[in-house]
Amino acid sequence: MNIVWFKRDLRMLDHEPLSVACARGKILPLYILEPNLWKQPDVSYRHFVYLQHYLSQLGDMFNTKGSKLVIKVGEALSVLKSLTTRHDVKAIFSHYETWNKFSKNRDLAIRKWTEKKSIDWKEYQQNGVVRNLNSRDGWSTLWHKHMKKRIYEVPEKIFCIPEKSDKFPSFKDLQLEFDGFEPNTNFGKIDPGIVLESFLSDRSENYQREMSGPLLSATSCSRLSTHIAFGTISIRTLFQRTQEQTQKKLDLNGDKTKNWRASYNSFQKRLRWHCHFIQKLEDLRSIEWKNIHPIYDKLERETAQSKNFERWKHGETGFPFVDACMRSLISTGWINFRMRAMLVSFASYNLWIDWRLTSLYLARLFSDYEPGIHYSQVQMQSGTTGINTIRIYNPIKQGLEHDPQGKFIKKWVPELRHMPVANVHTPWETPELLGEYYSPIVDEKLSRESALTRIYQLKNLKTARIQTEAIWRKIGSRKTSENDYLKSRKRKSKLQKEFEF
Ligand SMILES: Cc1cc2nc3c(=O)[nH]c(=O)nc-3n(C[C@H](O)[C@H](O)[C@H](O)COP(=O)(O)OP(=O)(O)OC[C@H]3O[C@@H](n4cnc5c(N)ncnc54)[C@H](O)[C@@H]3O)c2cc1C
Repeated sequence: MNIVWFKRDLRMLDHEPLSVACARGKILPLYILEPNLWKQPDVSYRHFVYLQHYLSQLGDMFNTKGSKLVIKVGEALSVLKSLTTRHDVKAIFSHYETWNKFSKNRDLAIRKWTEKKSIDWKEYQQNGVVRNLNSRDGWSTLWHKHMKKRIYEVPEKIFCIPEKSDKFPSFKDLQLEFDGFEPNTNFGKIDPGIVLESFLSDRSENYQREMSGPLLSATSCSRLSTHIAFGTISIRTLFQRTQEQTQKKLDLNGDKTKNWRASYNSFQKRLRWHCHFIQKLEDLRSIEWKNIHPIYDKLERETAQSKNFERWKHGETGFPFVDACMRSLISTGWINFRMRAMLVSFASYNLWIDWRLTSLYLARLFSDYEPGIHYSQVQMQSGTTGINTIRIYNPIKQGLEHDPQGKFIKKWVPELRHMPVANVHTPWETPELLGEYYSPIVDEKLSRESALTRIYQLKNLKTARIQTEAIWRKIGSRKTSENDYLKSRKRKSKLQKEFEF
């Protein structure tokens, strides 16, 4: 028989390892819950809430097929060793995984053991991320090819080997403490097909216009990220369903579909970005713990816990829009792209805190935590990649643009609920009305200017530029050809054109 090892792919539809293994005969469908993974600094209570839910859904899917998902608790290598001593295991089928350092090391140990024992471990491509990629050139074409391949249907018949599951651990067993997670609209717990359908047929009409506003984005964005992160639906399924919906809209409405088509295009672009960022981690493991560009090791940002870090963590910085975003994230586990970028930018530039501290804290708060996207984005928003434009988000400007009436602020920072709209973004200007709320922990303008000076001193060094090109070759996006990239980089550095967002 063959083991089908479920990892971050908790689904039956479009699951190549499951389909191939079932076609070969009896299987043992396995999930290994690794207590040591749950001790890592980037995982949290809320992740476990979702894991439990998705495993129970997957278990139900197996039950309807008259079979049973087996859940074992322990170190993955020991679990697999023990199963192979009791069963005649021909092969292990799984997707390959590009996740955190712990999972990478675990997979390396298992690969070594399977080779020693001559057990065939077949790892399949799970999305657009390619293992052992030689060059980033042509990656986008490969991505599209993968997305257009046929979807693997749920196997009609599944013959399972009987094996007992272990007792599922509790939050307490894993020492996972409640972290303030109390989402009121929980897209992560609704069937991903239903979430997608409601997005494509209803919620996405003004996707591009509304994706950055903190209130509207909560329903105008797809909200599929937690599902995608746990693999309850495949990127290919999302891509193909969106293609079908585009065609449907065109057939029905002809020219009146402009908005929808723009939304679908934008959404599909983001599905590609998803894989593009994970590919960076696949090709450069160290982005999880090292500055992508080594020149920024000289930045000397704060690496120790500090009062400012604590205030940022709890949404007590005295900048209402930053605080509202942080408090909302703590409670719901989700916030839109722009607000994530602003939270990181504020910590990395205005507070001068090292991204290695803030990224772990945010990883635990994002219910959709995906290391490949997360560390690449955190580094981008901290100015340490060398290949991206420096963007410092001004939290006051962001608030005025995306929450002009201060509704979001008043929802999450109730201390300011009586503040007139004219003062809600800069409450320090009316100290008599501040009440219980905090004074700003830094001067926004001074701290931004100081950060820019420090970053540019390094960015402009000749040695830095040479390394930048090597980094782009390894992990840069190939939207432009190499020549165009080099030309535009020269132009940019000549003009020193940077933006304050
Ligand atoms: C500092 C920072 C950290 C982030 N960390 C994560 C993370 O851990 N996990 C995560 O899934 N996303 C992360 N993102 C990207 C983005 O903010 C989320 O994917 C998005 O907000 C999820 O909401 P949604 O599913 O409604 O997105 P939609 O806008 O509906 O997008 C659909 C899907 O496309 C992908 N996607 C969207 N935007 C991006 C992007 N900029 N880069 C890569 N993929 C994208 C995601 O898989 C998303 O679910 C991060 C962004 C920043 C700035």
